Amino acid sequence: MSGDHASAAIAGQVRHVETLLERRGLLADGEIDRRIDEFLAGGSPANGARIAARAWVDPAFRERLLADANGAIGEVGLSMSGGIQEQRLKVVANSDTEHHVVVCTLCSCYPIALLGPSPTWYKSEAYRSRVVRDPRAVLAEFGLQLPPDTRIAVWDASAESRYMVIPRRPAGTAGLSEVELAGLVTRNGLIGTAAV
Ligand code: FE
Repeated sequence: MSGDHASAAIAGQVRHVETLLERRGLLADGEIDRRIDEFLAGGSPANGARIAARAWVDPAFRERLLADANGAIGEVGLSMSGGIQEQRLKVVANSDTEHHVVVCTLCSCYPIALLGPSPTWYKSEAYRSRVVRDPRAVLAEFGLQLPPDTRIAVWDASAESRYMVIPRRPAGTAGLSEVELAGLVTRNGLIGTAAV
């Protein structure tokens, strides 16, 4: 992507959509500014990775995280209250029998504070519609082949509720520190479109 034409055209489209959303009451006044503040406040996949690594090494933290994610992430200095109101966070953990994947079928709701800006594919119509109907095929396209007997749970985010996945801890990582473990976790792993 290069050239001012492209960015000016995109900016124009964004403004147009923003106006429509505000007019229809789907977007609160100033919400875009608030989101930008959240970006600048340091939303990054490193935050989500830190949470996942802590959950791997600390079973009690993992339990608290799955029961009350908003409370538990405060223990590692993170929060979902980037702006006016705190978003409800639910964290789900993959196991050898169950795999979780997150989508926003309506638009692009995403735990920005923990994962940073969402990837383009997350916002695409193709992902949003297909991952619900045929998650196994979509995950395979991401290079994630799950065993046929693994149950797949698809979580649909919304303006009020955000989701994050704790991947399975990779084999052979018993000797790694929490920081080293966090370095293994990818953004896609935290969305559920990668194994880790
Ligand atoms: Fe959304």
